[in-house]
Parts: sequence; C-alpha cells; structure tokens
Amino acid sequence: WTAVDEYTFSHLHPAPSSPSPSALTAALRHSEAQGLPDIAVSPSQGKFLKLQAQLAKAKNILEVGTLGGYSTIWLASSSPDVQIVSVEVDKHHAAVAKANLENAGLADRVEIRLGPGVEVLPTLAEEIKEGKRGKLQLTFIDADKENNWNYVDAAIGMSEPGACIIVDNVVRKGQLVTAQDDPRVEGARRVIENVGKDDRIDGVVMQTVGEKNYDGFLVAVVR
Ligand code: SAM
Repeated sequence: WTAVDEYTFSHLHPAPSSPSPSALTAALRHSEAQGLPDIAVSPSQGKFLKLQAQLAKAKNILEVGTLGGYSTIWLASSSPDVQIVSVEVDKHHAAVAKANLENAGLADRVEIRLGPGVEVLPTLAEEIKEGKRGKLQLTFIDADKENNWNYVDAAIGMSEPGACIIVDNVVRKGQLVTAQDDPRVEGARRVIENVGKDDRIDGVVMQTVGEKNYDGFLVAVVR
C-alpha cells in the first residue's frame, strides 16, 4: 500500500506542484522535531482534500483538528482566494502549525482558532449568522472522534447548499464493525448513523488503504 502511494503520488504531484513537495516535507519534519504525533493525513489524502475543495469551489473552509497544519497546507493550496479557519485545542500544535504555514507561504489564508471544537464552532456559527464571515463550502473534521457528530451537526448549520463535509478515520482498520466499548469507534458509528437519518445531508463512506493503513473517510454533501 505504501509503495503504491509513493509511486502514484510522485507522478501525480511532481515539483513544482502546489503545495510544493519541499514545503510539505518541511512541515512533516518540523512537526516531528517538535514532538507532534505522526497522525497527519497521507500525501495522497491531502491531495484528495485539495481536489475536493476545488470541486466545491471552496472560498470558506472549516477544519477541526489542525495538528501541525499538514492537511491545512493542502486545503490552503486549493485556491489563492480561500480562507480557512482551523480549530486546534493544543497550544503547541497550533504554534507548530503556524510556523509550518508561514514556511509554506500560506499563513495569510489560514486563521488558527485555539480551543475545543465544541466551544469554538458555536462562536463561528454566530459570526456567520452576523454576516462577519461567509458560509462554508467545505469542512474537514479530524479531531476528537467522540465529537464527530457534534461537529458535522454544527457544520451543516454553517454551510451553503452543496457544501462538502469530510470526516476522517471512520473505518479504523474495520473496527467500525467489530470493536466494543471504543469511544472513537462509537463516534464513527454515531456520525455515520446520524448522517444516514438526517434529511439535511447525504453521505457515503469511502474506505481507504495506503501508507496510513486501512481506514476511511465519510464524505457528505449538504442538501
Ligand atoms: N488534520 C491534521 C492533519 O491531517 O495534518 C491531523 C489532525 S490530528 C489527527 C488531531 C488533532 O486534533 C490534534 O492536533 C489534536 O490536538 C486536535 N484535537 C483533539 N481534540 C480536540 C478538540 N476537542 N478540539 C479541537 N482540536 C482537538
């Protein structure tokens, strides 16, 4: 799986593509040197996010779970006009992400909001309601898995019709259908089951294999 990822990515994202392969590598190296866990999306998954943002013609993107800003760099490279709010609870992660975004030349497209997603999202919703910021065309959820549904529910309310919402890590090596008493798996089941019952949104799970092992994205469109 890893060899296939490396082969396809090297051909489909050659230098000088955007974001630059060197900025991506630098972000991962700096994150590792700063002690961040190796849990960012893979390069191919990052490119998938960028292309989804382009398909959604996204000008306003919400990300929940910044870590070192690796996925943020991908999303920020989708358009020179994109504005991203990325929510991160950990101060150190946020600082590393800021440095990585600056190094990639993309910091002016990204605002990192420090705090737990369940507290930050209602303030963003208020800002959208007051017309201080535009409605969302894309949301990427990759934080505390227990709150997946809360984040999707809040994102739907902040989105334009046709907006895309993507939730990472919902398959978890198949534990989605086997695990007992794992709150992260319960968070994945809850978001899948609730999306299925909700008339405001339509979704599907795409299982993935690759250098990040066997997992999957929930990809949904706001009606
Ligand atoms: N999206 C990143 C990427 O692909 O480069 C990876 C994000 S990592 C899987 C999850 C991040 O979510 C961590 O940095 C963690 O600190 C953050 N996080 C955990 N709980 C959170 C919460 N309640 N609110 C906001 N962020 C949270």
